[in-house]
Formats: sequence, structure tokens, C-alpha cells
Amino acid sequence: MQITMTVFLLLLLAINSIMIFQLRDMKKTDILRRLRNMAFGVAGIIVPVMVILLTKDRQIAYYAFTFYYIAFAWYAMMIFRFSVSYSGYRLFKIYKSPLFWITVIESAAFIWGMFSESFFTITHARWYDHIYWICRVFSMFYVYAIVGYITLTGAVVVLIIAATQSARIYRLKYSGIAIIIAVMVASRVNAQLRHQPIMVQAVCFALCEIVIVYMAVHYAPRKLNQRAMRFVVDKLNDGIVLYDDEHQLQFVTAGYGDAVGLKGMQGIDNEEMYWTKIISEANVGNAWNGRVMSVDRDDGTYYYEIQHMALDEDGKLIGTVYWIRNVTESIKNYGEMVRRANFDELTGIYNEAHFHEVARKLLEEHPDTDFVMTCSSVEKFKVFKEMFGQEKYDDYLIRTAESLRTGLVHIPNCVYGRIGESDFYIMMPKEAFDPQQLLDAIDRVAKAYSTNNFNLIIKVGVYEITEPSQDMLAICNKASMACDTVKGDYGKRILWFDESIQKEAMLRERYNAELTKAIEHGEIQIYLQPQVDKGGKVIGAEALARWVHREDGLIPPAHFIPFFEMNGRITELDICIWRQACAKLKEWKEKGREDLHISVNISAKDLYALDIYEHYVSLVKEYGIDARNLKLEITESAIINDLKQHVRLVERLQEAGFEVEMDDFGSAYSSFNMLKNICMDVLKIDMKFLGDTDNEERSHAILRSIVDLAGELHMKTVAEGVETEEQLEFLKGVGCDIYQGYYFSKPLSVADFEEKYL
Ligand code: C2E
Ligand code: CA
Ligand code: CA
Repeated sequence: MQITMTVFLLLLLAINSIMIFQLRDMKKTDILRRLRNMAFGVAGIIVPVMVILLTKDRQIAYYAFTFYYIAFAWYAMMIFRFSVSYSGYRLFKIYKSPLFWITVIESAAFIWGMFSESFFTITHARWYDHIYWICRVFSMFYVYAIVGYITLTGAVVVLIIAATQSARIYRLKYSGIAIIIAVMVASRVNAQLRHQPIMVQAVCFALCEIVIVYMAVHYAPRKLNQRAMRFVVDKLNDGIVLYDDEHQLQFVTAGYGDAVGLKGMQGIDNEEMYWTKIISEANVGNAWNGRVMSVDRDDGTYYYEIQHMALDEDGKLIGTVYWIRNVTESIKNYGEMVRRANFDELTGIYNEAHFHEVARKLLEEHPDTDFVMTCSSVEKFKVFKEMFGQEKYDDYLIRTAESLRTGLVHIPNCVYGRIGESDFYIMMPKEAFDPQQLLDAIDRVAKAYSTNNFNLIIKVGVYEITEPSQDMLAICNKASMACDTVKGDYGKRILWFDESIQKEAMLRERYNAELTKAIEHGEIQIYLQPQVDKGGKVIGAEALARWVHREDGLIPPAHFIPFFEMNGRITELDICIWRQACAKLKEWKEKGREDLHISVNISAKDLYALDIYEHYVSLVKEYGIDARNLKLEITESAIINDLKQHVRLVERLQEAGFEVEMDDFGSAYSSFNMLKNICMDVLKIDMKFLGDTDNEERSHAILRSIVDLAGELHMKTVAEGVETEEQLEFLKGVGCDIYQGYYFSKPLSVADFEEKYL
């Protein structure tokens, strides 16, 4: 029996040693180190027990008992330390050292007691028909025993605290080991009370030790792993499903149904066939790599990233796993993103960046082809927008894009896009470009948006790309420059870029850079064009800007005013003109010529940039002149931009004594309509808007009715651009009040004007 027991204990020791060996292989964490120490401790317990089992010599048995108890004290300490480490309580560090010294003292006491037999004595006793060495303890021993129990109980308490304080999935990790240590304590108490032979405890300890090691390094982590995995996997929005070799469902994530668009888990058993079919059709092969596939299910098209793998071991199928991620949303979002990045949202054709990119590529791919770049743009698109609203404007843009799409579809190597608010660019091989065809196509769309009051005019600038290597922006700019230039030109619709256009653009840039200095140096001057009444008497003049450039000489306003209107710097210039007009009026007043007035032009931009009312009121105050002598010309298109606001402005100016004239009446769209809303003092009619009409009779009729209407609305009429005697006679005949034009005089420098008329 003793031999069998010894063999059994040896076996346990061997298992334990294997575990020590195994742990030595593993990473040296604190816990593993402690476990190894414990395993040594158990070895320290088992070896003396084997000696006790085998020896007949009482002295040897006694020594062995002593070493057994010492080993047990160390083992208890190691268990405590392990529990603290395992629970992650660094706090208990302070207890480690006293416990160590207590154990050292205990060990010393036992070695001393070994010779005096002061702790215990041993005798032979019968247990289940066999004779064993049994130990009988003295009172001194209880001190030792209590320390041992306290240490082990402490370990249990530490683990229980850890178990209660940690997340649910960690509870097993701590409570399992707490239970085993409790079992060890119980077995020891039991053995002590029942006077069982020492080997019973040794077996129990060795078994418990094995279980602890198994729990701590194998079972608990794996269990934890599994639970954590399950936890994570169930939180996944992906569908992961595993079938075994008999196509039985083995595992499926909670998110599977949602992921693949099944209603719940309905029909999950048949899904394998489904995926297998899809995968085999897509010919992906047996590979663990993601492949995005579009799949038509009952309720629409889904995009799945599918990974699948047949699991096998030594060529034998274990099962098949499918990992299915529903990427429908992100595929759609990505598509949307690409679309947004490359296409104009409104019209669906290329946006600027993408147009540039594609155009650049085309140029590079066809180095031997000559290309042209065209820019087409709505003349006065702001007016169009104001008149018909954004929606109609958008509609126009969409229609234009559509006509590009259909009209250009047959032309190879052609790209087009919308750039900015109103411009469309097309790049195509020069040989395919037919200007008339383009204009016709544009006209077809434009016609649909023109009314009696407003003609939608689209102008085209063309640039033959002579240097394909230049920046795409520069290429587009050249087409745009040509387009801008033709915009100011009444008769022309299309203009090819040439050096002069570029020169002009550069000139404009130069003027822009020089404006401030020019104003400071008095280069911006007023020219006066006389205004004449029915009796032929000069009653005043319109102030027109001239740039008397120190190098370029006299520059007419057409060369710089439209440009400054565009970039907003017109206001600087206008203020300068108004001040000169005021200064002149002051001078004339002092000379007693208060009967003469000066009309000044107010640009649409001024209305936004300045508080016109404040500005004019303080101007006349500053120069001490009569507001009635400073007449204000505002074009109807400037007023229409914000009709309500400007009606009020005009009223206030009139209240302050100014006469407000509607300039270029008849040139814009809703001339007559506007009269309903706004009460101006003077209507200024430009003959050129009527002059070149084929049907003279009609324009006479129009003129006559304008003058009649003005009379009824108590407005005076000024006719400008009067060039011939016939015109004058006719105007007199219909009752127009004031005349201005080359027939009387061109605009004159102030000196010439004064010499002639003062
Ligand atoms: P606008 O205000 O309609 O000025 C009348 C234009 O017609 C002037 O051209 C004038 O020289 C021209 N003109 C006068 N009589 C005749 C004629 O019998 N036949 C023809 N064909 N033309 C005639 P100008 O001075 O070149 O000015 C052009 C435009 O520049 C002006 O048109 C006005 O819109 C703008 N402008 C001129 N000076 C200023 C200014 O100081 N401030 C602002 N904001 N605009 C100005
Ligand atoms: Ca004017
Ligand atoms: Ca005018």
C-alpha cells in the first residue's frame, strides 16, 4: 500500500513538474513566477511525505515531518502571494515582507524543535488496516497551525474580494481558485481532526495545486478568451457563420441576420447553399480574402464583402466558415462621395477639378491632336437670376448640361464641365469643333428662357490650345478671357482668343494695380457732356469718367469701368468722380451759375458698398451746394437687384432734395414693370437701344409711348445718344424734355466745357 501511495505521489509530482517545465517555457509574468514557486512548494511537501511513507526509522520520519511542516508554511505563504498577484492587488505588497519573516521564524523554530520534539511527536498508528506514522501535536504547534490557516484564509478572502469587484466574466477566474484553496484548508482541518496519515493531505495538496495551475494558466484564460470572443463577436455587425462537414450550422454571430439582410435568423440553415452558390459563381476560389460582391436579394441590391474558408486538417474537411460583411451602405456612400468629388451636384456633369483632370489626361494621351477649349457663359446671369429666380436658373443650367450631354456624345475625345456659377467649358479636338453648331445648340436652350422682357444671351470664348503643356487653369482662363471680352460686345456671340485679348486682360490687370495711384495723382477726371433743353439752352451736363493716363493718354471708360464694376473697385472711382462734380458745382455756384446741374453715375456696386443716402447728404453739405444741382443716374438693372430696398433709398434721396434719374431706360427687361414700383424723377432713354432697329416706325412708336407714359407719371425724359437732327426733331415732336448726344457735343474736358458754355 505504501509503495502504491508513493508511486501515486510520484506521479502527481511528475505532473506538477511537467507543469513547472511548461511554465518555464512561457512568458515570465509575475503570476507565472508565483505559480512556479508554488509548484516547488508542493514538491517540498511531497518529498518528505514519501520519505514518511517509506521509512521505518522513527528519527528519519520525524525529520521528514519537520520538513513537511516547514514546506507547508512556505507553501501557504506562496499561495497567499499568488492570490494577491493573481487578483492584481498591489496594495498587499506591504504584507508580503512580514509574512516572509514569520515563515522564516517558523522554519527556524521547527528546525530547533526537530531535536527537542517540542512541537509534535510521532507514533505508529493503524489506518484502514495499514500502519502509518501519525503525528500528535503539542500546544506550541497550534500557533504554527493558526498562522497557516490565517494565511490560506487570507488568500481566499483576497480572491473573493477580487471576484466580487470584477466584471462578471472575470468572476470564475477568481472564485474557482478561491474554492480550491478553501478545499485545501478544509482538507487540512479534516486531516488534523481525524488524525489521518500525512499522505492524505499531501495527495490533496498536490491535486489542488494541479487544479490551481490548470485553472490559472489554462482553463480560466481560455474560458475568458472564449467569453470575450463571444462578447466581441456578438457585438460585430458582421455575419460570421460556421457549418460543419455535414453542413450543420455550428456557430453564428448574433448580427448575422442583420448583416446579410435576413429577417432575424430565419432560413439560416439554408444560407450555406446560398453563399456557396454566390461564391462559386463569382469564382473566388477557396481563399480567406475579402471580395466585394453585389447580391440581389428580395428587397434590393446588397453589397457584401465575403470571406470564406473551408477548414480542414490534413486534407480532411472540418467545416466551412463564411464571414459576411454588409458593405452596401459604405459602397453607396463611397459612390456618392466619388460622385460629389467629381461631378457638379446640380447638373451631374464634371466639376472644375475633375474637368481639369480629365482634360489634362486627354491632352497627354493625344499629343498629336489639336484641341480647342471653349467657355460659354450667360451674359448678365445675375439679372436673369434676379428676374426668374434661382429655380429657373438652375433649370436652365440643367437643360444646358443635358444638351451638352446629348450634343457631344458622338464627338470622341471631348470633355465638358460646369465651372463657377454660370460657365460651361468644353474641350474637344479642333477638327470636330463647329462654332455655328455650338451657337445653335446654345440658342435652342436660351430661347426657352427668353421672354419679351429679357433675352437670355450666352457668349462663347474659344481658345485653340497651342501649348498643351501649360496649366489647365491657364488654358481655361484664356477661353474665359475671350468670353469675358465678347460679353461686353453687343453684336458678337463668339470670340477666339488671341494675343490682343490677353494683352487687354493684362492691361486691365495693370489698370487695377494703378487705380489708387491714378486717383491720388488726379489722373481720373470728369468729362462733361452738355444736356440741352427744348429751347437749345445748355442746362447742365453728365459727368463721365476719363482716365488721363500719364503714359497711355486718354483712356475711355469702356476700357476700365466694366472691369472695375466686376471687381468692385468702381466705388473708389465713383467717389472720386462725385467729389470732382461737387467741387465743380461749388465753383459754378460761387460764379453765380446755379442754373447748371451735373448728373453723376451710380453703379450697382455702389448701392451695396456705400450708404448712398448718408454719402450724398454729407457730400452736398461739405461742398455747400444745392442737392437739386447734383443729379443721380442709376441704371434700372442696378435698382432691380434689390427693388424693395432701393425704392426706399430713392424716396429718401428725393426727400433730401436730389433728383434721381433712371439711366438707360429700356435697355433692360422689365422697364415698364418697374415704373409701377418706383417713382423716379427722370427717365433717361438711350437712343442706341432704339436707333439700330430695322423698323424705325416701331421704335418711334415705342419712344412716343415712353415719353407719354413718363408725362403721365410726372417724370421728365432725357434722351441721350442724340446724333442727328432728325432724331432731335422727332424727340421734340413727341415731347421729350432734355437732349444729350454727339449732335450737340461729345463729352468735353472741364476746361473745354467751361470755355464753350459758361
Ligand atoms: P452712360 O452713363 O450711358 O453714358 C453715356 C455714354 O454714351 C458715354 O460714354 C457717352 O460718351 C456716350 N455718348 C454720348 N452721346 C453719344 C452719342 O450721341 N452717340 C453715342 N454713340 N454715344 C454717346 P462713355 O463716357 O464712354 O461712358 C460709357 C459708360 O461708362 C457710361 O454710360 C456709364 O455707364 C459708364 N461710366 C462713365 N463714367 C462713369 C462714372 O463716373 N461712374 C460710373 N459708375 N460709370 C461711368
Ligand atoms: Ca449715365
Ligand atoms: Ca446712359
